[in-house]
Parts: sequence; C-alpha cells; structure tokens
Amino acid sequence: ERVISSEVSDFDERFEQSLRPQFLSQYIGQEKVKDNLSIFIEAAKGRKESLDHVLLYGPPGLGKTTLATVIANEMEVNVRMTSGPAIERPGDLAAVVSSLEPGDVLFIDEIHRLNRAIEEVLYPAMEDFCLDIVVGKGPSARSIRLDLPPFTLIGATTRAGALSAPLRDRFGVPLRLEYYEVEPLQEIVVRSAGLFDVSIVEQAAMEIARRSRGTPRIANRLLRRVRDYAQVRGDGNITIQMANEALEMLQVDSHGLDHIDHKLLTGMIERFRGGPVGVETISASIGEESVTIEDVYEPYLLQIGFIQRTPRGRVATRLAYDHFGYVFPEHNDH
Ligand code: ADP
Repeated sequence: ERVISSEVSDFDERFEQSLRPQFLSQYIGQEKVKDNLSIFIEAAKGRKESLDHVLLYGPPGLGKTTLATVIANEMEVNVRMTSGPAIERPGDLAAVVSSLEPGDVLFIDEIHRLNRAIEEVLYPAMEDFCLDIVVGKGPSARSIRLDLPPFTLIGATTRAGALSAPLRDRFGVPLRLEYYEVEPLQEIVVRSAGLFDVSIVEQAAMEIARRSRGTPRIANRLLRRVRDYAQVRGDGNITIQMANEALEMLQVDSHGLDHIDHKLLTGMIERFRGGPVGVETISASIGEESVTIEDVYEPYLLQIGFIQRTPRGRVATRLAYDHFGYVFPEHNDH
C-alpha cells in the first residue's frame, strides 16, 4: 500500500478518531472556509435555526469528515454519519432522517454516489423537511407524507462535478477545501505529535509537512511511520536526522512523490514525449485505474504544476522534467 495514498486505510481509521479536531479553533488552516462557516454558524445559532445545508468538496484526506463533526459540535447538535453507497433504498434514507432530532447534522460522505431514486427522496427532505414515501404495491400503492425535524445535510464529495445539478443547487453553503500549505501542515504534525506524546523538533515537522502532498491524512500517516523509526533506531525523539532517514526509507521524495508518481511522470516523458496523452493511456501503461488517477493522484500533480490538462490530454511540464533530471525539449509548447 502507498504510504502517500490520500485514501483512508483501516490502520488510519484507528488513529484518525483520536487526532480529529473537535472545534473550529482546533481545525488548522482552511481559513476562508472557517471564516465563512463561523459566520453562518453564529447567525443560525442566533436565530435558533438549523444551519443551511453544506456541501464540502475537495480531494480525499483534506478534512471533510472532520469538518462535519466540527460543525455539529459548534452547533451543539448530534451528527449521524453515512455514505452515498450505504444508502441503497429510499427506505434506508427514510430510516436515517426520521431518527434525527431538531437541528441535527446528517453527514453523507461520497454523496455523488447516491442513486437517482434516493436523490428524489432527498429533495423534499432538504427543501421542505418532509418525506414522500410510497407504501404498498400495485393499485393499492399510495404516497404518504412524513414531516421531519429541521436538520442540516452535510454532503462530502471528491468530485463536485459528478453531482447532479438539482442536488448541487440545494446546498446553501458550498465550500471547497484546498490543499494545505506547508505551514498549517507543520502545525498539524506538531499537534498530532503532542497527542501521540512524542517529542518532535520543528524542522522535522516541517520536513514531514513538505512531503505530505498538502494533505493532513498523509502528514499524520508519515508522522506515525517516522515515530516508529525514531523509536526503533533512536531514543524515540523525532530529530531532523531521524525524520530524514525515515522519509528516505519510505521512498517519499522532497515533493511527496513516490514510485507510482515517478512511474507515471517518467512514463509520460519517456514513452509519450511528455504528452499530450489521455488518462486511459496513462492508466493502461501504469496499471492504475483511471478514476483513481483522476481523483487521487492527478489533482496534486496539477496543483504543484507537474502536469497540465489540455483538450488533447495530459502533458508533463518543465517542472516535472527538471525534477526527474530530464532535459526539457524547447520546441514543446507546454
Ligand atoms: P476527508 O473526510 O476529507 O477524507 P478527514 O476529515 O477524514 O478527511 O481527515 C483526515 C485526517 O486528517 C483526520 O483524522 C484529521 O485528524 C486530520 N485533519 C484533517 N483536517 C485537519 C485540520 N484542518 N486540522 C487538523 N487535523 C486535520
């Protein structure tokens, strides 16, 4: 398994609960998102109303689930967690929403994976806080309307573009999470080290932050691996030397790239003369699914400017050529 995968593993799950910030004041970075939210939360609380529905979108591991819990805590309500694929039938959704208390938060992860029939049930629930359910079959079937308490739906997705327009339009507060800068990530590493009760020098936290692809989940995972290394090879304290040795061993380079990124980028450079090359072709040549490339690996490579999207496919940029020690062909127009 990739140490720099931004997707959650069972192993992460055990630690992530203990590392999750509980309130906005503990949620590091994402200043714009926090500014917006704190105003909406204060206003809703002032009016004693439920918070408007919130859509959180952005790459995995940036803190969407965490933020949903933080919002519920700030609103002083309960949160129910589920996911798009877990809601198979309209009855599943009805069961969840009818158990909510007034003002509660319903969190639906991967909301772009809800099926159409469920979406139809969700619209009136979001707009008018009611459920239209069909009971019975055939000629005796009839529709009954159930009133729901006002609640806040928080949807999370890695692909806002995959959401149907009518669903997207029903979120009053769409918020986009951005990759983290090194500084807030360093702060997250220091905070997590504190919670793990392990000492870490600032420079080591910075080194981990730099190689975490702008992603708190990866920062926390690298921290755990470095901690193990320091415990076995050192005295348990994370010095800069311990951090460097451990990161070297994990084969995560100065930009947070690993062997799959290397394969992807050097493949584009060597086999396709830097592109343009289609995602399907890249997928076939490195043996990773194209949705995984598009949702998980590529956004970060785009973010750091190593690849660009063009209408004819992906191209490797001069930065990528330089990073891997290739000579950039000057006649290229990218
Ligand atoms: P997502 O739902 O976007 O995949 P999560 O909310 O599960 O991401 O976050 C992954 C981990 O990263 C969490 O366990 C949390 O500890 C940490 N994390 C995320 N965002 C922050 C933040 N802003 N401050 C501190 N820790 C964070």
